[in-house]
Amino acid sequence: MTINWNELGFNTRAVRVGQVRSQEGEHSEALFPTSSFVFDNAAQAAARFAQTEPGNIYSRFTNPTVRNFEERLAALEGGERCMATSSGMAAIFSTCLGLLKAGDHLIASQSIFGATVTLLNNILSKFAIQTTFVNLTDLDSWRAAIQPNTKLFFLETPSNPLTEIADIRALAELAHAHHCLLVVDNCFCTPALQRPLSLGADIVIHSATKYLDGQGRCIGGAIVGSERLVGGDIFAILRSGGPTMSPFNAWIFLKGLETLQLRMQKHCDNAEILARWLATQAAVERIYYPGLPSHPQHNLAKTQQNRFGGLVSFEVKGGQELAWRVIDSTRIMSITANLGDVKTTITHPASTTHGRITPEQRRAAGISDGLIRISVGLEDIEDLQADLSRGLNP
Ligand SMILES: *Cc1c(COP(=O)(O)O)cnc(C)c1O
Repeated sequence: MTINWNELGFNTRAVRVGQVRSQEGEHSEALFPTSSFVFDNAAQAAARFAQTEPGNIYSRFTNPTVRNFEERLAALEGGERCMATSSGMAAIFSTCLGLLKAGDHLIASQSIFGATVTLLNNILSKFAIQTTFVNLTDLDSWRAAIQPNTKLFFLETPSNPLTEIADIRALAELAHAHHCLLVVDNCFCTPALQRPLSLGADIVIHSATKYLDGQGRCIGGAIVGSERLVGGDIFAILRSGGPTMSPFNAWIFLKGLETLQLRMQKHCDNAEILARWLATQAAVERIYYPGLPSHPQHNLAKTQQNRFGGLVSFEVKGGQELAWRVIDSTRIMSITANLGDVKTTITHPASTTHGRITPEQRRAAGISDGLIRISVGLEDIEDLQADLSRGLNP
């Protein structure tokens, strides 16, 4: 009897979907590190290549371990089809190459990952695909940026590092009214906290490098959406362009999915406690966390996310000097720009992730010199508080 996974709970899907046991009867998912696959005869080889018979051909575009990860993530996001990629950036690049052509225009939130801005500005522009950047939370600025050749809206929510929340449902309606697709980078929430497809988005993007792995081991990405979009023009980029996820990385990520919900709950627990504790610290000027009632989109976050996520940013009163002292006084947190790890990471955005833009651009983006971003990990919260307290209260 086949199982209808859609009727089962999130954690059951996270642990079970996509596994196909081999004749060895292995309990854990098998890893298939093989570049190609053997056919019974020449006619079968011909049928596989013509795609008249389903089955494995070559691991650039068909591998059982990668498929296991893809089916599991698709089931968690509520999408028909997932395509895994070699990185999060490869997922964004493949989506744009698959869905856009020369002369098309896209609208992107100005609060997106730095490499995504560079990809849109410096690389896609070479192929005559132009981007307009707008304010994530200002629906009117999205509407005003629409042109006759606009094909796609792109955003991240919550944004990094200021945790602004986009109204996915409203933006999906606006996009569809103008025959555009809405693409949401769901890296920060993961399907454990937010499912953009159920709110009207057409495509979900992941940097699997972050929470899907959750332990900082591998680089990878994924695209989830309809069979028509992901299985059609986007899959064509994978098959002929080759931004492929390795079977080993897929195995790491599919095992990561098994504990995703559990980890995200603890990331959220720790982040909520830390944000409330930061609010009691005299040296802290302002906190950016959607879980605080003072956050401008707190109510929107409550309706479109299950919980508020693991990223907390805050401004200290002493500018860069105090921010660096807080960072340099930590002994447990890792000073690194990565996020979504069980290990807490601490970053100074103004001099790292946003260090290459001008001070005026930084001010416009709301990135002050006193801003610190923390990706809250799974250590004991008392130890994280003590780690920050050393610099905040010397
Ligand atoms: C890290 C990140 C990416 C890029 O992913 P890679 O796996 O590093 O290529 C894209 N979007 C967001 C929101 C990210 O945090």
